[in-house]
Amino acid sequence: MNALTQQPLLTTRSTREWQAADAAHFLHPFTDFQSLARKGSRIITRADNIYLWDSDGRKILDAMSGLWCVNVGYGQQALIDAATRQLRELPFYNSFFQTATPPAIELAELLAEITPPQFQHVFFTGSGSEASDTVVRMVRRYWDILGQPQRHTIISRKNAYHGSTMAGASLGGMGAMHAQGGLPIPGIVHIEQPHAYQLAREMAPDAFGRLAASWLEDKIIELGPDRVAAFIGEPVQGAGGVIIPPDTYWPEVQRICDRHGILLVSDEVVCGFGRTGHWFGCERFGTRPDLMSFAKGVTSGYVPLGGVMVGERVARVLIEQGGDFEHGYTYSGHPVACAVALANIRLMQQLKLVERVRDDTGPHLASLYASLAEHPLVGRAETCGLMAALQLVRDKASGTPFPPERQVGLLCRSHCFANGLVMRAVGDRMIVAPPLVMTRAQVDEMGALIRLCLDKTWADVQ
Ligand code: PLP
Repeated sequence: MNALTQQPLLTTRSTREWQAADAAHFLHPFTDFQSLARKGSRIITRADNIYLWDSDGRKILDAMSGLWCVNVGYGQQALIDAATRQLRELPFYNSFFQTATPPAIELAELLAEITPPQFQHVFFTGSGSEASDTVVRMVRRYWDILGQPQRHTIISRKNAYHGSTMAGASLGGMGAMHAQGGLPIPGIVHIEQPHAYQLAREMAPDAFGRLAASWLEDKIIELGPDRVAAFIGEPVQGAGGVIIPPDTYWPEVQRICDRHGILLVSDEVVCGFGRTGHWFGCERFGTRPDLMSFAKGVTSGYVPLGGVMVGERVARVLIEQGGDFEHGYTYSGHPVACAVALANIRLMQQLKLVERVRDDTGPHLASLYASLAEHPLVGRAETCGLMAALQLVRDKASGTPFPPERQVGLLCRSHCFANGLVMRAVGDRMIVAPPLVMTRAQVDEMGALIRLCLDKTWADVQ
């Protein structure tokens, strides 16, 4: 209730009424507006633990953690209390012009504690996309201060996702995004991704990892090493379809960056905060990034927050030689978001969520996926911590894909929705990234639903 007007804050409406109002006024991200108006949105009204309920009262297992973010699951009282307390105490103050708030300071301190040792400083943003823009500004500023402004180009990868702002979408390697609005912006180039199924099905993984890393060195040499500012990558490409690189890939990328003095940026927006069974994906894959962007899991998505961890190599230059850094956001270090992040990280520590994913639920998911790999529709099943992908194929023996126009991934996804499971389709790759609070029994429950939906899809394509 609104105390002044005695009006309920939200009205209760039927699904059809919600859908009509939605289609009339709400332009959704990454959505064909006409198709939405025709089919109507699915209206999610509440959630608890790993489950959602829609406006028709149907229960759904959320195997995508909202959008890769609700790591501690829904309904965690500690986060709700932290937000409520902070809203009462100080709902907003900025961090511009030499001001700060206790939650932002404490969160900066805690992040310095839980991230790898080279990170002692953080720049807060409101989202992962803003973190990507901050990375571009910071990398270029770093080389400018050092008197090497020609070191301007940032190398990224095809099929990467780094956000939806102009710089974020440019860093990303999504062709469909670049096709709209004249992207990428100048000074960002892309190399091929370490996607073994797509590029080198027959090759031994270790050899493929080294080969894929060598594409980075080829590009550096082509551009001229003294023109390259940084390389950015997600440890595991999330939105691109949970592309898990071979173990040889990242250490070789690190060696190449070191050899040419190039900054290494790890985009941890998806992989950070426990997703891979380590606090950060760079720890799982053995790199020492100079910058590390994060968002999503830092607050488990309860409120928006992002940021960039700044390694000492860059921080010392910015702090000691940089003067004013002409960059920032109104919501950089938002006190409510920071209070929720503090509660979220402390809860993850109390529940030992990262250890659980590493030692218990992650290996359990891996063995479940090993059995799903036997399904006739599945060409490859891969997991890393609590993220996983199933590559659907027309012919299991040869690994031949379906023709794209059959849209088998979307068909499978529609079976998931109809059977109470949120799973995402990236082409014919079915991916999950469930809440990290998931128990072994819930992993099995998810596995049974996935198998059911694979069976139904298999029946349809015969
Ligand atoms: N980086 C990665 C790896 C992401 O997956 C995303 C979002 O999915 C972003 C950046 C952008 O984050 P946001 O949507 O919070 O702007």
